[in-house]
Amino acid sequence: MSDLTLPPRFAVFGQPITHSLSPRIHRHFAQGLGIALDYQAIEATPELFPATLARFASQGGIGANVTLPLKEQAATLCLELSPAARRSGAVNTLVRRDDGWFGDNTDGSGLVRDLEAHLGLALAQRQVLLLGAGGAARGVVSALFEAGIAELVVANRSIERARALAHDLAACGPIQVCDWQELDQAGAFDLVLNATSAARQGVVLALPASLLGADACAYDLSYGDSARPFLEWATQHGAGRASDGLGMLVEQAAQAFLIWHGLRPDSAATLTWLREQ
Ligand code: NDP
Repeated sequence: MSDLTLPPRFAVFGQPITHSLSPRIHRHFAQGLGIALDYQAIEATPELFPATLARFASQGGIGANVTLPLKEQAATLCLELSPAARRSGAVNTLVRRDDGWFGDNTDGSGLVRDLEAHLGLALAQRQVLLLGAGGAARGVVSALFEAGIAELVVANRSIERARALAHDLAACGPIQVCDWQELDQAGAFDLVLNATSAARQGVVLALPASLLGADACAYDLSYGDSARPFLEWATQHGAGRASDGLGMLVEQAAQAFLIWHGLRPDSAATLTWLREQ
């Protein structure tokens, strides 16, 4: 039961969660719009996530974000899913309804908005290479096709996972699978997206420079130290633009904020504020 004298409760669930930027981003959005809001980071293992989420709801929680490693599990805890969440099989935004949770996925629209609005990249008719076939990769495919890309090539360390992605998301548009060892024959791309978590384990991806077409954009979905090796590779090999995924993080949060509050926050101001920190 929620107490109407308290601000509405929101949270981000994940493990680990202490370094999540989501509480700061949502509080900054709310501050800019003069909205009172309680947004906390809550640590939950996959085993404890269902009970932790149920307790959050019983204590008045009306919306939540979900991050690693809980996004796919979150989809199974929802009574209803948006088309984006159903296609990707993963939920990053939960909305409490009377009868249970509604699940959405704003990662793909967040990426597209960052590419188009902040980086000035027109996605229509672009050739795109997606490195990685995990949850984040799955989450962005349909939004890329909706933005009009011509073709998507997916390369993943485990080729079976790339094939499964191409199979499951075939309705979104033409997806080719490329063996990681054959990337040097894959051709040149307008946009190269790194959706692997290799750098988090200290692994620097060995990528051929031939992947970068003229004035190509290289984009790492991660940010901070994890994005650095890929962005250095891109810059050293002549990419026209190279960006980390901080803008995607802010834009997926802005989309979640819009779903919960019916107001679009000033995401550009929040991104500038975060980069200054
Ligand atoms: P997953 O664990 O689901 O997938 C990890 C991916 O990385 C798999 O494709 C895996 O390949 C690949 N990989 C891992 N290690 C290596 C390696 N040493 N060499 C090559 N490939 C490797 O993670 P997510 O998809 O959820 O996340 C991926 C990244 O995207 C993370 O860094 C995350 O922080 C970022 N992200 C950013 C968001 C944002 O808002 N900016 C939102 C969501 C994610 P394999 O299948 O072979 O194991």
